[in-house]
Amino acid sequence: MAGSGSRARVSSTKRSNRRRPAKGDLPGLSAEEFFLKEGSGKGYSFDDFNILDSIETEIGLDQISLETDLGKGVKLYIPVVAAPMDTVSEANLSIAIAQQGGISVIHHNQRDADNRFLLEEQISEIEKVKRHQSGFISQPMTVAPGMTIGEAREKGKRFMVSSERRPSGSGIIDTFPVTRDGTLDSELVGFLTRDCYFEDSDLDLKVGAKMYSLDELLRNGMVIRKSNVTEKQARRQMADRRIRHLLAITRAGKINYLVTRKDMVKNARFPHATRDDKGRLRVLFSVDTKDFVEPLERGFAAGADGVVVDTSQGLTMYAKKTMRFIKNHYSDKLIIGGNISTSAAARKLEKYGMDAYRCGQGVGSICTTQDTIGVGRAGATAIYDCARASRLAVIADGGIRGGGDIVKALALGAHAVMLGNLLARTDESPGELVETASGERMKKYRGMGSLEAMGGRSIRDYGVQAQGVTGYVRSKGSVHSFVPGLVNSVMKGLQALNCRNLRELHDYMRKGLIRFESREPGALVESKPHSLN
Ligand code: IMP
Repeated sequence: MAGSGSRARVSSTKRSNRRRPAKGDLPGLSAEEFFLKEGSGKGYSFDDFNILDSIETEIGLDQISLETDLGKGVKLYIPVVAAPMDTVSEANLSIAIAQQGGISVIHHNQRDADNRFLLEEQISEIEKVKRHQSGFISQPMTVAPGMTIGEAREKGKRFMVSSERRPSGSGIIDTFPVTRDGTLDSELVGFLTRDCYFEDSDLDLKVGAKMYSLDELLRNGMVIRKSNVTEKQARRQMADRRIRHLLAITRAGKINYLVTRKDMVKNARFPHATRDDKGRLRVLFSVDTKDFVEPLERGFAAGADGVVVDTSQGLTMYAKKTMRFIKNHYSDKLIIGGNISTSAAARKLEKYGMDAYRCGQGVGSICTTQDTIGVGRAGATAIYDCARASRLAVIADGGIRGGGDIVKALALGAHAVMLGNLLARTDESPGELVETASGERMKKYRGMGSLEAMGGRSIRDYGVQAQGVTGYVRSKGSVHSFVPGLVNSVMKGLQALNCRNLRELHDYMRKGLIRFESREPGALVESKPHSLN
């Protein structure tokens, strides 16, 4: 049923019977008129058009749902997918995005010093997400007993951005398990919490002199010698012993987890997290189109909920072979194809049995593909053209700069957006954080087809000629503050269009009730802050 959008992929909210003006009364053009008739032979990006206001609205923000369904039971509370990129999607970010109700794709560019792909590392990132339990910190920051408390505090400040390692609260790490040599590889010997040091003069004292000793910890029930403690057991122990921290250690005395009560309570505030039927966070992973057999076997064995065939051209002979293999062996899992940018390609991916695909070629913020090989398509045109042609879930991929672009992508028929640039800016992304001379916090973000990411190898069918660049993007803080803001913008966009959910948005767009108008250069200037000097 090409282009009808009738597949029930959005929440069960009943269709609205609210009256909308007849098409003839509306200004602007329908999507079909704008993109296919007026726009025939032209490529539009998000900046090239506006969506016109719906004239009257009758719904409150609390009536709006952004739920979406990628297929195979993978339903999202927010239509956000983190891109498989090595400055975006490792376990830390994937956990945070799933907690917010989106999903992430663990990338496959983990490499050793000789630039060989380390499958183990990719699998370990998937496992970290699937095993994540609220308040469980698997790699807490450790210190040595011989350090001064001041030195420990400094270390905690330096790493304040990594929220996976940060018990919630202060924003900096001020609670440290103490190990024999200060690393996670040696045995636990004590625990330094904020209660151990009050006075400024304490900062010069040795950690070993003020920490809780292992004996004390064992007496207080703050250490539990068990490798697979569940969230329930940890809660029980913390409630029974009236403690705020718990250290789960192995038989050999090494740290498995630091569990904090505050984080447990905080994380219980993610009622819309994307979870599987066992209650574990959901996560996807990417494979390339050359060596996919073992990665697929290991990735799914590790519990991944779906896979992305990660290639810049979704219908190469390699991509087709990969899709066939996945379809034959893992047909119960979510399979995401792409990238593509035309309706003909979308129809083909449907034939290959994909559930969803990434739509966008040559439009990523770090992408130089269009300049390098002369092939690609403007983002908005690609989304509209693909979405009208297939029943698969469309993931608009590349060039999304904020809430406005997300609303436009969804209004053109996308079921979700894939974010690289925007999520690379968050604390949870693995990209290096640097501070500029003027004190601005920037995070590294690089294309998977950049020379740096490829290190002389071809990733994603880019070949060894670079099709991407490396850059720095302004830090936006934690996913948990940044993403809700983004989601709020999108909800306001839907409200302005008088749509309660994505089904209505798509339905109205296809009926010509969502109206589009091109944005001439002057109008674009006017749309940004201006005339302020
Ligand atoms: P962004 O959010 O605009 O930065 O776009 C992210 C998307 O760009 C990814 O999901 C990929 O589809 C695409 N991409 C990632 N790396 C490269 C590259 O090096 N060249 C071209 N496209 C890339």
